[in-house]
Amino acid sequence: FDDRDGFIWLNGTMVPWREARLHVLSHGLHYASSVFEGERAYRGKVFRLTEHSQRLIDSAAILGFTVPYTVEQLNAATEAVIAANGFRDCYIRPVAWRGSEMMGVAAQQTTTQVAIAAWVWPSYWDPETKMKGIRLKVAPWRRPAPETAPTRSKAAGLYMICTLSKHEAEREGYEDALMLDYRGQVAEATGANIFLVQDGVIHTPVADCFLNGITRQTVIELARRRGYQVVERAIQPEEFARTQEVFLTGTAAEVTPVRQIADWTFTPGAVCRAMIADYAAETGAASPAQAAE
Ligand code: PMP
Repeated sequence: FDDRDGFIWLNGTMVPWREARLHVLSHGLHYASSVFEGERAYRGKVFRLTEHSQRLIDSAAILGFTVPYTVEQLNAATEAVIAANGFRDCYIRPVAWRGSEMMGVAAQQTTTQVAIAAWVWPSYWDPETKMKGIRLKVAPWRRPAPETAPTRSKAAGLYMICTLSKHEAEREGYEDALMLDYRGQVAEATGANIFLVQDGVIHTPVADCFLNGITRQTVIELARRRGYQVVERAIQPEEFARTQEVFLTGTAAEVTPVRQIADWTFTPGAVCRAMIADYAAETGAASPAQAAE
């Protein structure tokens, strides 16, 4: 991914893609003092840009380091990267990490490094293919308790168990993994939040040990605006047996229907279709007329 044309914003300047390098003794690499964001631009406008920039700053603060830019500066840098690469629809990846000034667990004197990259990452499926849904394997790893890891931070270290879980799922032919939390309750997928539809009511786990996704919050609001009841509560995996529809939400995943989790099967239907359309209209991915089709 490093050998291509384009520009990456790195510590305040725009550098050619191939030259956006860091030192091998970076603290972020050795000790996971690294946080990141995932954003999408639709028709030239980044969806919920300020919330994402703020979350990057907050994620770093939770890990005890400071992003040396304001939300406004991060927003401007993000827009500059998109413009420098000539994109309109793209995925954006800001990342902030502790630098290489000292080595060891303690890193009090490191400076914070910040990079923002962007690339074209389309929603792979047309709406009809998407409606067939993906398959999830139950992960062998559990989301840690808030007193075990800084679960409110979008911290790189928290993704170690996500990569392990996703690789195992892919090896067995599934698209993604369902992660339970430390209590054995349904938590989320490896990079997206989860929703269940039971008898017309939408249920989603309380975000008390995983990321309260910006897409999750948007979809809850859109669903309520449509008149659906949305309940945030503890969800046991056994409940999938009496669930008709399941979908994932995330910046990259957008709204993605699920057709199978372990041996439970679902038929993506009216609620999945409605939330895909409403989210596309809200982000600006589709015109309201297209979204209503
Ligand atoms: N959970 C995890 C583990 C994620 O990586 C993501 C993607 N950032 C989400 C949930 C969804 O968050 P958002 O809707 O803000 O992209």
